[in-house]
Amino acid sequence: MTEIFCPYCDQDIVWRIAFSGERKGVFAHAFCFECDTIWEDGKKIDDLTGLNYEIYMENHGKEADWTIIQRGYPATIK
Ligand SMILES: [Zn+2]
Repeated sequence: MTEIFCPYCDQDIVWRIAFSGERKGVFAHAFCFECDTIWEDGKKIDDLTGLNYEIYMENHGKEADWTIIQRGYPATIK
């Protein structure tokens, strides 16, 4: 399996993450900690499908809060 470098910034690998309060052990989303891009709910990770975290949270009517992000494991291409 190959780790995925962020298609937006190419600075770091993409991680599987969960938000606090979501089911334990399930890392449904993907996130780049370098440029704060999120891919929600198993979305294909490419340079068209990601969303800036602040915009993502704004779309959900929330302030961007980095403390709720739980880092799981590197996202990989199967
Ligand atoms: Zn990035």
